[in-house]
Amino acid sequence: MNETSSHEETCIVCETKKSRGIHIYTKFICLECEKKVVSTPTSDPNYEFFVRKLKSLHTPTLYS
Ligand SMILES: [Zn+2]
Repeated sequence: MNETSSHEETCIVCETKKSRGIHIYTKFICLECEKKVVSTPTSDPNYEFFVRKLKSLHTPTLYS
């Protein structure tokens, strides 16, 4: 248990509730995933997974 957690938000990448992370637009990415995204080479299969997750941030559901 972490008593310093003011509030927790669900990370869009790992879908885990975390108290520390960054906001992109209205979405939340935890510190761990943010680091992973940054350190993942573009040739890594996981990179595409992250990109797909992040891309969902940029495409508003208004346009279909
Ligand atoms: Zn995460």
